[in-house]
Amino acid sequence: MTRKITVIRGDGIGPEIMDATLTVIDRLGAGLEYDFQEAGLAAQQSVGELLPETTLESITENRIALKAPLTTPVGGGFKSLNVALRKHFDLYANVRPAISFKGTRSRYEDVDLITVRENTEGAYLGEGAYTAPDGSRAESKMIATRKGCERVLRFAFELARRSQRRKVTVVHKANILKDVTGLFLNVARDVATDYDDIETEDMIVDNACMQLVLNPERFDVIVTTNLFGDIISDLCAGLVGGLGLAPGANIGERAAMFEAVHGTAPDIAGKGVANPCALLLAAAQMLEYIDAKPLADRLRLAIRDTIASGDRTTPDLGGSGTTDSFTRAICERL
Ligand code: ATP
Repeated sequence: MTRKITVIRGDGIGPEIMDATLTVIDRLGAGLEYDFQEAGLAAQQSVGELLPETTLESITENRIALKAPLTTPVGGGFKSLNVALRKHFDLYANVRPAISFKGTRSRYEDVDLITVRENTEGAYLGEGAYTAPDGSRAESKMIATRKGCERVLRFAFELARRSQRRKVTVVHKANILKDVTGLFLNVARDVATDYDDIETEDMIVDNACMQLVLNPERFDVIVTTNLFGDIISDLCAGLVGGLGLAPGANIGERAAMFEAVHGTAPDIAGKGVANPCALLLAAAQMLEYIDAKPLADRLRLAIRDTIASGDRTTPDLGGSGTTDSFTRAICERL
């Protein structure tokens, strides 16, 4: 049966990497139907709105969106369109795999870990303000709820179990931020009792950062609060060759959105040299999510082989190819 997904081609290099990704998914025979919608600058230019209702309705109906990077113009009423989408659909789990690829300039060869970041609470509520008229003082609020902690923790443990991973590391700062991240840690300890088959450890965030840099192979699934997850997931992307290879999924009960982690890369937009891998790897996450794991595995293998051989890869990976040539090389391997 054909499955319909919402596709947002985005801004900057977005359309280039999205076209490449759809070419590869079609070649894979994933049998997906695309409902093209707009958001960001492209939407503003065509319909005068950054996040049109029709786009939100399409995601509500299809429950799955594949999204290229978006530009959030200053003064357009949004701090970040990505955050607005996550909020609107209550996409509480941000899932960021970091996997080493041979043939890249990554620092480590055997990293294979996933960061699960709580996406809706913590320090990212946007409820901050300057509290002195002269701007010399500012405050912001952090929130954690048992429900918010529990759902993302259960998500991480279920993910570990489903993908046959052995360990979940709960990252926190409960020694100092005793209330907000202390609650996260307490709930983690409760939830862990339902997952005897998975090793659980907890680690203070500063130590986790050091351990990740010294010995990333010791990690498997990391689960943490919003702010720490934001930082740690980019740190992990740095361990395996940068944002050009970093996909992300945002998962909720009602919808899921899959995206490249990098931005719109205006400096190379329109030049035909953007690396499509981050969005392709996000598409692999999406295929896994819709129970098409064999297709996801084939896609990852083709990407892996193409990068390892350096066949027609883009300049950011040290090659002299283009988005098109790289895409063709991946398609041939499928
Ligand atoms: P934005 O304002 O949308 O965040 P940015 O340029 O500030 O854009 P990124 O888009 O993440 O941030 O780009 C950072 C650097 O990485 C840029 O030099 C960009 O060209 C490069 N880059 C990002 N994504 C890719 C990609 N897919 N392929 C090649 N280079 C990329």
